[in-house]
Amino acid sequence: MTSGIKKIVSVRNAHFGSKQFTIIAGPCSIESSEQFSQALQGVQTAGAHLMRGGIWKLRTSSDSFQGLGKEAFQFLREKLKNSDLGLVSEITDPRQIEATEDFLDIYQVGSRNMHNYALLQELGKTKKPILLKRGFAAHVDEWLKAADYIIKAGNENVILCERGIRTFETSTRNTLDLNSVVYVKSVSNYPVIVDPSHAVGIRALIPALAKASAAAGADGLIIEVHPNPEEALSDKEQALSIGEFTTLMNELKTLLPVLGRTL
Ligand code: PEP
Ligand code: MN
Repeated sequence: MTSGIKKIVSVRNAHFGSKQFTIIAGPCSIESSEQFSQALQGVQTAGAHLMRGGIWKLRTSSDSFQGLGKEAFQFLREKLKNSDLGLVSEITDPRQIEATEDFLDIYQVGSRNMHNYALLQELGKTKKPILLKRGFAAHVDEWLKAADYIIKAGNENVILCERGIRTFETSTRNTLDLNSVVYVKSVSNYPVIVDPSHAVGIRALIPALAKASAAAGADGLIIEVHPNPEEALSDKEQALSIGEFTTLMNELKTLLPVLGRTL
């Protein structure tokens, strides 16, 4: 993976691995047309570069909300056509790649699928950027080797995402491994972003970890934001409100120039 030249992965206004500290924000799950519109408007006004939102959700319990799936396609196409922001969403099955290619800007591989090499190889045949999350119990070496499956299949547009790992510690949802960010930046040329939402799982702690990620040299964040966190159908404990996200963005605007970066 190392060749000396830092890789910049660009899509629309986002340039991962450049001086820009790239922000992807939005709800854990896309729940309705109204919720999507409110979230889109809110994160765009706050200055996010891309929107996130799950269409298919891999939930631990089969009784939990599984995402709108195909039901969301029509309103997503309509709303994204008139928007400056592109959408990042998780693909859980190779059949979803073609079904979403006209309206998704980045395909996300979730933590549970980092080892799904058949999925990685199919995504490697596309030209879109792939956001590859680290498996929650994956060594950094396994994560980088998973990225190689995408790259070797022909797609160099890989963005790595640290999202916290499972450790003996139970006070937070996962343990944010900032070692991995610093380490991967030193051995790989691919951009690395952090998901502080899934890493810590507690709303009030997310802004501090977002800023720590910037200070550690991450290239950006993917962060969960909901227009009405109390009513979120998934991960409501870790959803920032639009107001909380706006405050974080303002704090980043002050911090980033010190680190030689901009929003
Ligand atoms: C997500 O970002 O929607 C998600 C499910 O996260 P992870 O795959 O890191 O658990
Ligand atoms: Mn989530």
